[in-house]
Amino acid sequence: MITGPSGVGKGTLVALLLERHPQIWLSVSATTRQPRAGEIDGQHYFFLERPAFERQVAEGGFLEWAEFAGHLYGTPRPAVEAHLAEGRPVLLEIELEGARQVRRSFPSGRQLFLAPPGFEELERRIRGRGADSEEAIARRLERARVELAAAGEFDAVVVNGELETALGELEGQMGLA
Ligand code: 5GP
Repeated sequence: MITGPSGVGKGTLVALLLERHPQIWLSVSATTRQPRAGEIDGQHYFFLERPAFERQVAEGGFLEWAEFAGHLYGTPRPAVEAHLAEGRPVLLEIELEGARQVRRSFPSGRQLFLAPPGFEELERRIRGRGADSEEAIARRLERARVELAAAGEFDAVVVNGELETALGELEGQMGLA
């Protein structure tokens, strides 16, 4: 499991990890937020309306779920269980509240926290993405402070400064190096 504030570069690092280690299966989450430009339903996320998401919650269809910056996000349970049953390494890329739920249901799962080299750099990256409104940016920055304060709960913290270095450290922490 990889957690870290919005804009820290989780997406980029996870994409590189999957390229280098195709045995890893990345869970595709469900969300109620709108797709960003280029995001494909069923590939980046399963984009759901809130009532459909809530129905899935009520049916126990999520391994974990949480509200983040005004939208709901959840990990569909059946696909994770099927891949674990096959013996595939499963990777979740989720925010703090979900990470805490998974910690309770899968205490043996390895939980890594990805941190930015500094808060100013994080803000620069979130703004640089150009994908979010000023209000959404403010909510993400506020949430980032909460997440950074919880880094100590994780099995290891990897700082995403230089990309290759961070990737190597992640691989080491995941037992892939
Ligand atoms: P974004 O909207 O930028 O794609 O994601 C916002 C946050 O939601 C990120 O921190 C991301 O890791 C988290 N997230 C994505 N999918 C899930 C999920 O299934 N469950 C939880 N708890 N968080 C998720």
